[in-house]
Amino acid sequence: QRFDVVRLVLDILEQLELTAAQRGVTLELLPPTLADAELLVLADRNRIRQVLINLIDNGIKYGQERGHVSVHLTETAKAVRIAVHNDGEGIAKQHHHRVFERFYRIEKSRSRNSGGTGLGLAISKHIVEGHKSVLRLHSEPGQGTTFEFKLPKPKLKQQSIRPSEPAG
Ligand code: ATP
Ligand code: MG
Repeated sequence: QRFDVVRLVLDILEQLELTAAQRGVTLELLPPTLADAELLVLADRNRIRQVLINLIDNGIKYGQERGHVSVHLTETAKAVRIAVHNDGEGIAKQHHHRVFERFYRIEKSRSRNSGGTGLGLAISKHIVEGHKSVLRLHSEPGQGTTFEFKLPKPKLKQQSIRPSEPAG
């Protein structure tokens, strides 16, 4: 399934705008000039939507109040890299592996009463791995948090040679 990941990200940012506003968080697509462009990827749109909603929602809930959550899209030769970044405290090294476990929530976020179940990242990791990719976490205390993964671009052949319409 081919789809434009710029369109998908803009849709989700619009959908989460109210949630973000409740914490005074600003959502942004980077670079902003991409808003008028198209970046095609080969992936399951609904599942990738689920991954992005969770990552952005996490950035809003666990990031800096009145901070920023950005989705950074970078095109490489064969893939599009998708990185979701939030400012804030970040995640200490000892939690890096555990946040991907089902039902694991860092103590601070439990007491923050943000209402999550601790499943979002476990599901997201599973979906990304189902696309033969890896969901990576980069975070240093005080430096905010970034989750990133790559999705393949459609092959040129598949772009130019369309299957013929079924006869009938
Ligand atoms: P759910 O996604 O099921 O609603 P959740 O957000 O608590 O619940 P996950 O998305 O799996 O669950 O995240 C697990 C935990 O990892 C969170 O409870 C939080 O403690 C921590 N976490 C996730 N994303 C971030 C982030 N961007 N910054 C800091 N901590 C995070
Ligand atoms: Mg979550």
